[in-house]
Amino acid sequence: MIESNRLRIAIQKSGRLSKESQQLLKSCGVKFTVNEQRLIAHADNMPIDLLRVRDDDIPGLVMDGVVDLGIIGENVLEEEQIERQTMSKPAECLKLRQLDFGSCRLSLAVPTEFSYKNASSLEGLRIATSYPNLLRRYMEQQGIGYRDCMLKGSVEVAPRAGLADGICDLVSTGATLEANGLYETDVIYRSMACIIQSTQTQTSVKQALIDKILSRINGVIRARESKYIMLHAPNATLEQIVALLPGAERPTVLPLSHDSNRVAVHAVSTEDLFWDTMEQLTALGASSILVMPIEKMMG
Ligand code: ATP
Ligand code: MG
Repeated sequence: MIESNRLRIAIQKSGRLSKESQQLLKSCGVKFTVNEQRLIAHADNMPIDLLRVRDDDIPGLVMDGVVDLGIIGENVLEEEQIERQTMSKPAECLKLRQLDFGSCRLSLAVPTEFSYKNASSLEGLRIATSYPNLLRRYMEQQGIGYRDCMLKGSVEVAPRAGLADGICDLVSTGATLEANGLYETDVIYRSMACIIQSTQTQTSVKQALIDKILSRINGVIRARESKYIMLHAPNATLEQIVALLPGAERPTVLPLSHDSNRVAVHAVSTEDLFWDTMEQLTALGASSILVMPIEKMMG
């Protein structure tokens, strides 16, 4: 590894993961300012450098030990891992955890007029993709022969342009497929963003910093998934009300001044509180219901 006392973290320069990757690190207390023209952003308050690169480069930078950490879509990570394994290049890294953004799926899709029964309908046909390794793995598992059409971009226009019969591409809402006269047939891989670490020897100082960042990421994600709930509950329905609060096993119950029939309930809920639960709470006599976001959580 190129010697540096500073922890290097690779994130996507610009694209679907870049804003949320930066936001996550900022929420972990890493202070930095990004200059759009520059590859590196130095943190002001911690020995951390951010490398802003194309997302395709991130797994390789981590696997080669050029950087210590990377934030990347699992789809790109897995694609690169298979690619490197077939080329006998270093393909190891530690997936520290899945993150709570970048959700998408890699799917097969065909033109609306295509009569599709199952993946074997694609036998012998040409499939356009930017993920040839993930596609090959799936088709091999299904025992289906097909022909490749490798495209780095504009995969969704390939059938209409007469380049391929079907595609294998990333989907989140399906709107792009629909706009291009395609429909989704098989989900071949589900992906989220994740944070990965190089397996190459870290100094203990760097490892301690990685542990600290990871523990803060855990806290940030837990907080984002949780809500602080306050309400007033009649004594008679208290137990039923508490049972309705998702994941709030041990709420704080406090007396209300000048009202011995009701109590105040404060609870951290591990899920969002949906409108229908709010309506059920009200039906049980709960009032003054407040649901608030939590900024940080630890311990
Ligand atoms: P780069 O210029 O860095 O190579 P890119 O064009 O390859 O960027 P983006 O389109 O920014 O990549 O997507 C980055 C990642 O975001 C994807 O690999 C995937 O993990 C995730 N993602 C989430 N939703 C979608 C979606 N609807 N389409 C594509 N990628 C998505
Ligand atoms: Mg890319």
